[in-house]
Parts: sequence; structure tokens; C-alpha cells
Amino acid sequence: MDVHKIGVIGAGQMGLGIAQVCALAGLSVALNDVSDERLNAGLATINGNLAKEIARGKLTEGERAAALAKINASMSHEIFADSDLVIEAATENEELKRKILIKLCPSLKPEAMLASNTSSISITRLASVTDRPERFIGIHFMNPVPRMQLVELIRGIATDDATFESAKSFIARLGKTSTMSEDFPAFIVNRILLPMINEAIYTLYEGVGSVDSIDTAMKLGANHPMGPLQLADFIGLDTCLSVMQVLHEGLADSKYRPCPLLVKYVEAGWLGRKTQRGFYDYRSGTPVPTR
Ligand code: NAD
Repeated sequence: MDVHKIGVIGAGQMGLGIAQVCALAGLSVALNDVSDERLNAGLATINGNLAKEIARGKLTEGERAAALAKINASMSHEIFADSDLVIEAATENEELKRKILIKLCPSLKPEAMLASNTSSISITRLASVTDRPERFIGIHFMNPVPRMQLVELIRGIATDDATFESAKSFIARLGKTSTMSEDFPAFIVNRILLPMINEAIYTLYEGVGSVDSIDTAMKLGANHPMGPLQLADFIGLDTCLSVMQVLHEGLADSKYRPCPLLVKYVEAGWLGRKTQRGFYDYRSGTPVPTR
């Protein structure tokens, strides 16, 4: 199936990025979240991002207006009635995602495809609560969506070939590159990346280095564009913890145990950039290490 109309559930950093790139590619976008405040703030964020692209000479005013006109936001799942593909990009919590998917299915047309942008949760398990496991697939965009080239595609046990091929064409239409991962906890990118970030947090927890020395070490010593703690703040510490819990439970290996310091930051509500505080404090405008 060709995808012309897309639905996005969750107007957080990922859902907004997905909505933005799809609208710029000329697709109609139905965007959903739990409150009008979130949706309005989300539309304002997209508008601001597009304004930055105009300032950088990458976009015209006309293209911005055309993209914004493609996005329709609502708290109701009824906006997904004519969607060809709906991508769930809500908070990384399996129980929440299951509830969303169960509620969503009756609003979809029978041939619509469903996807989750989950960073780690089993696509097969999420698909099993829907009425269409054969048309369910993992479409895992990277953050920030407009800038990152890769999208991981994850087939659940029931995903059919037509859905996989449609998802591949959809990603190509966005100008991005897809790779395939089998459906195991955290797939490929996060199976490798998140244990590295968790280890950086252990390094901090055990006093081997400060926030600044750990990030500087990995930037200058391993040539990473961002330090691991800076990256953790960027991803969101709640998402990092959820991914480590999925790895720990799913693979039953103690090497994946989440660092207690990560748990403590999440319990404090210090979730990184999105709450203005994590391993760095962003409230003054200049990031200040919190340890
Ligand atoms: P976020 O916290 O920025 O946004 C989550 C959004 O989901 C919020 O706006 C929240 O209000 C909304 N939401 C919660 N319950 C909802 C419901 N019942 N219906 C509709 N919306 C609901 O999180 P994020 O970073 O955008 O992550 C979203 C998903 O994308 C997660 O599954 C995450 O694992 C995945 N992901 C995140 C990253 C990353 O770097 N942050 C990268 C790739 C994939």
C-alpha cells in the first residue's frame, strides 16, 4: 500500500519530528496527544523548527506554510479514520502502548497499517493486542528525526511482506535509509548504545570521573560527537531507564542492570533536556553539570 495519509500518536520530541518530516514530504499528518496544551505546544515547536530552517536558507516561507497546512491535530482517535499508516510514538511504557493500541484499532480503516516507534519493546507483543498483527511493524526513527538518516525496521513474527515493503518505500520517500533488525529487546542501535550510556552512568556513580570528565573523555578520546551523559539527557533519562529495564528483563543478563544513579535521577523527575535538568542543568541557558 502507498502511504499518503499518516497518523502520529504522541506529540513529544519523536512524534513531532516524525510529523515534521512527513509534512515536509507532502504527506497529510494526523497528530494526537492527551491534551490540547501538548498539541498546541507541539505545533508551535514544529513551526519554530521550520522557521530555523528558513533562517538557514534550507526552506522557503511557502514550503513552511504548505507543511503546517498538512498537519491536523486532535485529542480524538477519530482523526485516524482515513490514515494509511499510524505510528505510535507515545511514552516508552509497554502498558501504556498496549492501552493506546487497543483503543485505536476500532478507529482505523481495515487495510490501515500500524507501527510503533518504540526504542526497545517487543513488536510481536505489541502487535498481539491489535486486530492486525500482520500489518503491524516497528518503525524506529532516530532522534532528532529531521537530522538523522537511519530508520530501523523491525518485523514482528506475524508482519507480512507487503507491510514490510510499504514501510521500506515510506522511509525511502522521506529520504532516509532503512535497516532491518530482528525483534529482540532494543533491536540493534539501542542494544549497543544504551549499555554504553548505562556504563557511563556507572562510571559517574562509582566516582571514576565527573560528568564533565566522562563526556570530554568520550568526545575527544573516542571521537563521539556528544558525550554519553549529554546524549542521555538528549534522549530523555526516563526513556534510557525503560530501555535498560527491557534489556534486563528481556535478556535476563545482569550486565544490563540499570545503574541506581539513573533510577535516582528519573525518580527525582530529572529527565534531561525535556525537564531542563538531568546530568546537566539547562535552566540558565548554559548546561551546568549536576555532579
Ligand atoms: P516524550 O516524552 O518526548 O513524548 C511522549 C509523548 O507521548 C508526550 O507528549 C505524551 O503526552 C504522549 N502520550 C503519553 N500518553 C499518551 C496517550 N495515551 N495518547 C497519546 N499521547 C500520549 O518521548 P519521546 O522521546 O518522543 O519518545 C516517544 C517514543 O519514541 C518512545 O517509545 C521512545 O522510546 C521512542 N524513541 C525515543 C527516542 C529518543 O531519543 N527520545 C529515539 C527513538 C525512539
